[in-house]
Amino acid sequence: MQQQLAVSTQNTSTLTDNFGRNFGYLRLSVTEQCNFRCLYCLPDGSQCEVKSELNLQEIKQLVTVFAELGTSKVRITGGEPSLRKDLTAIIDTVKNIAGIQTVALSTNGYRLQKEVRNWQQAGLDQLTVSVDSLDRATFELVTGQDKLPQIMAGLELADSLGFDSIKLNTVLLKQHNAAALSDFQALVQQKNWTLRFIELMQTQSGVAFFRQQHLSAQILEQQLQQQGWTVLTKTATSGPAREYQHPDYLGRLGFITPYQQDFCDSCNRLRVSSTGQLFLCLFAEQHQNLRPLLSQSSVQLKSWLQQQVQQKKASHFLHQRNPGATRHFAMIGG
Ligand code: SAM
Ligand code: SF4
Repeated sequence: MQQQLAVSTQNTSTLTDNFGRNFGYLRLSVTEQCNFRCLYCLPDGSQCEVKSELNLQEIKQLVTVFAELGTSKVRITGGEPSLRKDLTAIIDTVKNIAGIQTVALSTNGYRLQKEVRNWQQAGLDQLTVSVDSLDRATFELVTGQDKLPQIMAGLELADSLGFDSIKLNTVLLKQHNAAALSDFQALVQQKNWTLRFIELMQTQSGVAFFRQQHLSAQILEQQLQQQGWTVLTKTATSGPAREYQHPDYLGRLGFITPYQQDFCDSCNRLRVSSTGQLFLCLFAEQHQNLRPLLSQSSVQLKSWLQQQVQQKKASHFLHQRNPGATRHFAMIGG
């Protein structure tokens, strides 16, 4: 790994690691709880008791410090963030912090139809909804919830409200959706949405499932290329996804391939869990508790964050089948 890697944030943050990577994007989990039972994440549902989640005031203090260090984008995630009764207030608070230009939300879509207007009025710019299958029975099998029609209706409503960006996340699963590329293509033919296939990642609790279901995205990508889809040039703010377009389709298809060797070179994000643990990587061995620092001066938290970022490793260790301390993604929001 070279010592100088690509920098990919809109505004240069003062959070820079030893490899020259700059972190202007914060993924903030607001709860570990979830009401779905996705086979690859929480197959037995949320088992843990509700831990003491960061409250609105703590979220404000935390994001203000990140913004002062140059963070311009915050993604609110979980668990399922819409289970927080104060989600709309969280969006509003984060959006009104000086320096925060973009507020994004990752959701399973359960409350989309009911709440998306409120979220947008509160300042939500970008929406990402998980949709692992467009077949109702398969969707229920994978997520444990028969909610596909409501989620699609929620997406239609969001579409009519004019978000900057609507994305769908689809975890690629050998037996459940890998043969359904044409269904997903038919959707983005009509909709100006970006659907990204995420290669299944191994977590501590998902070893057997990973062995059964993991599939490289390469085959799907080759199929698209053969059909005339072309890869979009990355911009300074692009994340790790590779996105494709086709003149006959309104939307785009993309791939997130964490097992690719150079995947971490363009890393631009830090993660904070719902209880205030800083994760330098989705698959870090350790996390650090920043919550006590929220009651001290912001100067201390700033210098602590700047020191912590220096500990960030060049890459995750997924290739060695080491998922670090991550039991499942609901812990920190993927
Ligand atoms: N509950 C929300 C949702 O499902 O969108 C937000 C949190 S969820 C943990 C964030 C993303 O992580 C989802 O798109 C989900 O599909 C993805 N994810 C969870 N576990 C994963 C795994 N083992 N491998 C790849 N993606 C995973
Ligand atoms: Fe819940 Fe999201 Fe995990 Fe599915 S992926 S169980 S919706 S946190």
